[in-house]
Amino acid sequence: MPRVSAHLRLLLLRQERKFVLIEAIEKAGDCFAVQLLDDSKVSTDLVMYATGRTPNSTEFGLEQLGVELDREGAIKINSDCQTNVPSIYALGDVTNRVNLTPVAIADGMALANKLYVIIPARK
Ligand SMILES: Cc1cc2nc3c(=O)[nH]c(=O)nc-3n(C[C@H](O)[C@H](O)[C@H](O)COP(=O)(O)OP(=O)(O)OC[C@H]3O[C@@H](n4cnc5c(N)ncnc54)[C@H](O)[C@@H]3O)c2cc1C
Repeated sequence: MPRVSAHLRLLLLRQERKFVLIEAIEKAGDCFAVQLLDDSKVSTDLVMYATGRTPNSTEFGLEQLGVELDREGAIKINSDCQTNVPSIYALGDVTNRVNLTPVAIADGMALANKLYVIIPARK
């Protein structure tokens, strides 16, 4: 999936806009006082703060089990949500593909159907 942050950064740089990380946001009356990492402050009525997310895959002992992760810590899976350890499956945000609720739900339903629903053979 393309990185929105990289694209946005390029657009801002092209427009010669400032690109500085936020250190803190405080409510100041009707506005927000935004402290930036370059020591400057901005007072504004709206802040759009897109932090990005990384997969939360570190606390399961996956490395000890030999489950492969990618550079960002996402669990690598095949098209059946199966990891390189055949008995271990993963889906949803921890696989860092399309990180949306309907995708996690659909993948979960498809996997449950594949693993547990026994479809009777045709007579
Ligand atoms: C601010 C925000 C806004 C979003 N808005 C939208 C939106 O508008 N539409 C949309 O489709 N998607 C949206 N998403 C994305 C959506 O929330 C995720 O894609 C979806 O929740 C992924 O489902 P999941 O089951 O993979 O992960 P999660 O819903 O994050 O579920 C993971 C669960 O695992 C638990 N957990 C974590 N570590 C452990 C552990 N060690 N042991 C046991 N349990 C653990 C967590 O507590 C959590 O309950 C948004 C996400 C964020 C952060």
